[in-house]
Amino acid sequence: MMGTTHQTDTLIVGGGVIGCAIAYELAKAGVDVIVLEKETLGSQSTRAGAGMLGAQVEMTAPGPMYELGVKSRALFPKLREELLDISGIDMELHTPGIFRIAVDEDDRAALLERQRWQTECGQRAVWFEDEDLRGEMGDLVSPRYGALYLPDDHQVRNPQLLLALAASAKRLGVRIFEHTPMMGFLQEHGAVAGVKTADGVIRADRVIVAAGAWSGLLARQLGLDLPVFPVKGQSFLLDSYSPPTPFTIYTHGCYILPKKNGQVYVGATEEQQAGFDRRPNLRSLASLSTQAVELLPSLGDLPFSTPLAGLRPGSRDGMPYLGSVPGIDGLYVASGHFRNGVLLSAITGLVMAELLTGKETSVDLEAFSLKRAHVFG
Ligand SMILES: Cc1cc2nc3c(=O)[nH]c(=O)nc-3n(C[C@H](O)[C@H](O)[C@H](O)COP(=O)(O)OP(=O)(O)OC[C@H]3O[C@@H](n4cnc5c(N)ncnc54)[C@H](O)[C@@H]3O)c2cc1C
Repeated sequence: MMGTTHQTDTLIVGGGVIGCAIAYELAKAGVDVIVLEKETLGSQSTRAGAGMLGAQVEMTAPGPMYELGVKSRALFPKLREELLDISGIDMELHTPGIFRIAVDEDDRAALLERQRWQTECGQRAVWFEDEDLRGEMGDLVSPRYGALYLPDDHQVRNPQLLLALAASAKRLGVRIFEHTPMMGFLQEHGAVAGVKTADGVIRADRVIVAAGAWSGLLARQLGLDLPVFPVKGQSFLLDSYSPPTPFTIYTHGCYILPKKNGQVYVGATEEQQAGFDRRPNLRSLASLSTQAVELLPSLGDLPFSTPLAGLRPGSRDGMPYLGSVPGIDGLYVASGHFRNGVLLSAITGLVMAELLTGKETSVDLEAFSLKRAHVFG
């Protein structure tokens, strides 16, 4: 029989951007929290991610996901100030906006339609014909079929955001255990009462699974069919003291983000069949490089810094699971954020903390509910 090593109110499995955002908001609300991370904080999808706060560029239709993204994006300026104040770490919010370049007539039509509904929803979305684009950027970007400019879609530097969240959470009393995989759930009278690790048991009133692409595997241990699965993404960083443009340039299959620290991030592949393999490979990076240089020829002269690969936590409908698990007391999930976990980290932290402290949530969570998952045993 294992001994009890620790006890807490809320235990969070997973120290990515989602787990750390929830830990921070819960700690702010005065809740005692432990975060368990099997490797090091932010070392998985969060490290590989581009850091776009793409509430408009990533959403192709109005609906709950679009609204969640817009709400979350709006939280970042204040969150940046708060975290900077507490931890001294700056998430490097970068605000010039995103140009979504059309690649053909169909793409142009879809983007013009997107401009229509996003404007109707009260967002800024400005159409640039090729000559306007040339006026803005000279010969920098190869013009194609026009571009949609989204001035309010910003970006952050993921590792900095993660550090700022984790350091602030720690300052507020959160205990963080790295290199500590959760190995099983502790169950009492049908309810989740903690977790098992190699060092012993951690008792907790509530357990939140925020384990990214691994969340589905962990949930199976409790007979929960949670369709969260890995979708591999590869990308790379280039070194530059002065990026060729301050704007994010985004098109089909490739985007380029000049970072505040001078580096340029180029992403990203989307691979469903790679399973849990998280190694970058030459074919994907070569294809991405070719697309990036076609789009922005001056990138061709920049030196390589770092290849990246991560497993996005995919879900069947592309939307995250947020909330308690019907039929399993004490168990909560915050996972399946797929391509938008950085964007959605701020709102996820906030609503999960509201939920766990018995407050009305800032967003109606029905569309993100765990009723979409299924308990099979
Ligand atoms: C190439 C790429 C580009 C992307 N670009 C963007 C973007 O521009 N904007 C955006 O918003 N999102 C982007 N994303 C998506 C974003 O990175 C993810 O949605 C987000 O990082 C998910 O965060 P997470 O905390 O759920 O997962 P993760 O960061 O993967 O964290 C989960 C953590 O759980 C830990 N864990 C797993 N099992 C256990 C266990 N048994 N015990 C303890 N710990 C465990 C893991 O080690 C991991 O650290 C991108 C992703 C990729 C790969």
